[in-house]
Amino acid sequence: MKEIEKDQALKERLKTAINRILKDMDLDALLVTDPYNMRYLSGFCGGEGVLYISPDNQILITDSRYTEAAKQESGFTVMECNREHRTTDILKAVIQREGVRRLGYEDETMRCKAFREYQEKLDPIGTWTPLGMALTRLRQVKTEEELQCLRQAEAIGDTAFDRILKMIRPGMTELDIQAELEYQMMKCGASGTSFDTIVASGLHSSMPHAIPTDKKVEHGDFITMDFGCRYKGYCSDMTRTIVLGKANEKQKEIYQLVLKANQVTESFLHPGMICREVDKIARDMITDGGYGEYFGHGLGHSVGLEIHESPACNTRDATVLVPNMIMTIEPGIYLPGFGGVRIEDMVVITENGYENLSHSAKELIEL
Ligand code: ZN
Ligand code: ZN
Repeated sequence: MKEIEKDQALKERLKTAINRILKDMDLDALLVTDPYNMRYLSGFCGGEGVLYISPDNQILITDSRYTEAAKQESGFTVMECNREHRTTDILKAVIQREGVRRLGYEDETMRCKAFREYQEKLDPIGTWTPLGMALTRLRQVKTEEELQCLRQAEAIGDTAFDRILKMIRPGMTELDIQAELEYQMMKCGASGTSFDTIVASGLHSSMPHAIPTDKKVEHGDFITMDFGCRYKGYCSDMTRTIVLGKANEKQKEIYQLVLKANQVTESFLHPGMICREVDKIARDMITDGGYGEYFGHGLGHSVGLEIHESPACNTRDATVLVPNMIMTIEPGIYLPGFGGVRIEDMVVITENGYENLSHSAKELIEL
């Protein structure tokens, strides 16, 4: 299919999905305020604005900083708000004109203060209906175009990791390593990082989300690097743990157990699996190895325009995996006073199994 046809097909698919939400939830219109849902539904990347969607109207309200880009990026009718015509004034006029009584809003991400203001200014709406995950769920299954961006984002991470391995020396600080990793990702075409890079060495590595410090890396340290970038808005996410110098027996033991949990869990991945069952495979292996209490977080999460998306592989999520869903597989063991290991890949579920988007080596690297 040509680009334009693909674009048209996606727009039609989204329109059908939105109309189904309106019908199922008995709504006249939707107010979209979450920047990621806004981007997904309209194509507008600016993040600052509001979408109003009804069966007959698709309106994007934003201010003069973004109107030009909004017109280029989205197929929506762009309306400019300013001091005289505030967003709520514009919305109120549209809502009155369309006779809207039942409006859906994004309770998962809208601030309480903003919600109160909308309620007050748009009065009298009959019912305000929280949309919950209705819109976010549309983003769970990726299109081929989205997968291309995610593949490229993860490939940039692989290249940056390859380069950082050649640079790490005793005496470098965690912050040095963070700066290099991020610089290398930008040099490879990333527009930014997808979350705050984690570089945790030695005793710090027992903290799953340690913040990089001026601690120098030393011989015998585990160094856990969890990092990702953005490419065309889409995020990457990977973690590798290495040892500077020779690993000791205990380091080898926990590394091999985490590696096994990562590899065996991935080998089972296929459509039809329930997320919490995927988590259980890795969790049971780590528990059987005697370290269950040191694996506190969920096994993985989906990734897309946001770094943490739904569904997630944890002990609760009952979502069934289907082709074109993204999932990270990131088991870990964290021993306070010793150190920790996490190994994270980003995979896409396929018709027959899965494709690993992360290509960096996973065997223990002793630098
Ligand atoms: Zn990560
Ligand atoms: Zn992750």
